[in-house]
Parts: sequence; C-alpha cells; structure tokens
Amino acid sequence: MVTVASQFTGSFTQQEALPAGAVDAAVAVLQTGRLHRYNLTEDEIGEVSALESEYRDWQGCGFCLAVTSGGQAMQIALRACGVSAGDPVLTNAFTLAPVPGAIAAVGGKPVLVEITEDLRLDFDDLEQKIEASGARVLLLSHMRGHLCDMDRLVQICDARKVLVIEDCAHTMGASWNGRRSGNFGKMACFSTQTYKHMNSGEGGLLTTDDAALAARATILSGSYMQYERHGAGPDAEAFAAARLDMPNCSARMDALRAAILRPQLAVLDQSITRWNERYQIVERGLRGAPGITPITRPIQEQPVGSSIQFRVPDFTDAQCQTLLAESAARGVDLKWFGGQDPSGFTSAHGSWRYVTPQNLPRTDAVLATLFDMRLPLTFSTEDCALVASILGNVAETVAA
Ligand SMILES: *Cc1c(COP(=O)(O)O)cnc(C)c1O
Repeated sequence: MVTVASQFTGSFTQQEALPAGAVDAAVAVLQTGRLHRYNLTEDEIGEVSALESEYRDWQGCGFCLAVTSGGQAMQIALRACGVSAGDPVLTNAFTLAPVPGAIAAVGGKPVLVEITEDLRLDFDDLEQKIEASGARVLLLSHMRGHLCDMDRLVQICDARKVLVIEDCAHTMGASWNGRRSGNFGKMACFSTQTYKHMNSGEGGLLTTDDAALAARATILSGSYMQYERHGAGPDAEAFAAARLDMPNCSARMDALRAAILRPQLAVLDQSITRWNERYQIVERGLRGAPGITPITRPIQEQPVGSSIQFRVPDFTDAQCQTLLAESAARGVDLKWFGGQDPSGFTSAHGSWRYVTPQNLPRTDAVLATLFDMRLPLTFSTEDCALVASILGNVAETVAA
C-alpha cells in the first residue's frame, strides 16, 4: 500500500467558515446594538441564556454558565471550589499553559502529576502527590483528548476527598463508558476559543450539577445581581450565601459570541463524526509506519479526534528534529513536545517559570519523543490520507 506521497498544501490552522445561521444570528445581534448579556428587553431570553440552556441540555448536566474563555472558566471554578492563595492544586504535568496559568491566577500552587506513555494521568503518582501535598483539588486536564480511566479516577479522588475540576478544552463531546466528559467531576470547563470544538474566537462554558457552586461561579463571572436572568442557573435561593461573598471578576460572555455558538452547537455531533473520520484515516495510515507508536485508546473512550499524537520512542533528539523539519518541508505541520523552547502551542512544565520547579522524569521521557498534529475540519479525507502517507514516508527515511 506504499504510495509515494508528494507535497501537502493545506493549512493546519485554517478553520471552517461559520455556518450561515451563525452569520445571520451575528448580524441580528449587531443590528440591535444590545451586546451585553444583561441588556435585554422585558421578556427577552437573550442569546447567552439561550446558549447556556442549550449547552446544559446537550451536555446533560444541571447548570451551565457562559464566560469569556476556557481559562476564565478554570479560574472561576477553582475559586468557586474554595481554592485560595497558597493552596496546592494538583494538575497534569503535561498540559497547556492556561491550566497552570489558571491555578497561578488564583494564587494556587500547581502540584504536577506525572503522565503515562498514553498521555493519561499516572494514578500511582497522583495518590502519592495527594498524600504528600495535602491538596484538596485536582484540576484534571484531558490533554489532547485523552481521558484517563474516569471510573478509577473518581474512586481515588472520592476516597481521599479530593474535589475534581475537569478541563474539557479538548474533550467537548467526548465520553468515557458512554458518559460525557465533564460529567465526572464537581465542575467542568470548556473552551470555545478558535482552535477548540466550537469557535467564537474566545469563549468558555462552565458546567456543574451543584447549585451552590453554580451560584458562586455566576457571581464570580460578574452577574451584577442579574443572576435570575440566566438560562441554566440555579434558583434564586441558591444565591443567598454567594451573592455578597464572591467578588465580581467580570468574565461574562456577550451576546455576539453566544449567537454564533448556538448554530455550531446544533451541528456539533456532525462535527465530531467528521473529526473522528479524519482521525481514523490518519491513525490507520500511521499504524505500521517505521518508528511511530500511536497512542493507545482504551475501549471505554469515545474521543473527538480533532488532533492526533504519536510517539517515536526509539528516535534520538536529532532524529526528532529531522522528522519535524522534513515533515515541514513537505507541508506537514507537526509540533514536537521535546523541543527546548515552547513554540506554537507546545508547552513543557519547565517553561512555566512561575511554577516551583518539579522533578517529573517519566513525563519528560514521554514528551522527549512526543509529536502532535492538528486535524482541522477544512481537511478532506483525501488530505488526511496524504498527510499520513507523507508522515509514513518521512518516518521511514528518518528511521533508516
Ligand atoms: C485551550 C485550552 C484551555 C482553555 O483555553 P482558553 O484559550 O483560555 O479558552 C484549557 N486547557 C487546555 C488544555 C487548552 O488547550
């Protein structure tokens, strides 16, 4: 089946245009001039509240709050869960900068937990670090869409009274054993930033089943005491304690972004199918390529294949660099997590200088030979086959 591939010319960072319905909805909002979420007429629901209730229903959770970014969702969730200055917060050693950034923003101290070769949280290290740090909160990042054994994770954290906040920036729409990612922890944070599963430029969604946490989060987001005008928030009584205790951190979503997200939510299931179709083509193409070890996906996991990762465990640094350069020369834009400096969204814990340096030999060993590639929906299935075949070719020459 070896076809000699030539050159790929697609862009790994080009998103699809927004659906026509989103463009119409945006224009309609702009024509009213009422962009602030609380700038509503008497009995108008508003785009933001409508998005919140639609997302709550789609996600299958109790409450939903729309905010300005995934990072803000995480900061608000941490504060709502009681994290304050100086508190240790557990998180994955392999994640992207907004995660330790959110912990740092609330004055918390990230305690980094090792990952496995399959990019999931290492439970032995988690247990040790819960013990050693005394942390009461885990901000679990489902990095690049790889869900750890969620049943086991919940057991471990429940037994030790560690509260779990899920970072679902890469798992909007993914499931573990048929249950949606985001519905395992106390709170979940989603991003609608351009490179995620729905695109409003910037944006975030926070979900929970806990009315008190939802109330605290709503006040934190800056509700100007207008919380009764939310689409998927708790009843007014839930706000009794939170309304004067929580600071206003002004992180509300506006009507324009909500308006363009609603039509995307309506087709999110189709988008997920299309991502997975592309993922499978690339994954199949890479299987058996010399030197390349794909990341194993447990059968309990129903992922969203919006990006793909693979390891080249036997490659040296020099070979990794050649793989990167040769792929780039043929139009295939890989990211290497083993690089010295963070570039193009790769992120190694050593480059977060605001975090106390931590010794993570297993994570470092995995990252040293880990590659990452986006799979935007603007790629056709033929594009995906070509990309996989170029990568196979390049790997073959590098491995030789
Ligand atoms: C993108 C991302 C977020 C949230 O990012 P925002 O840009 O703040 O919306 C959180 N976690 C991970 C792993 C991400 O990649």
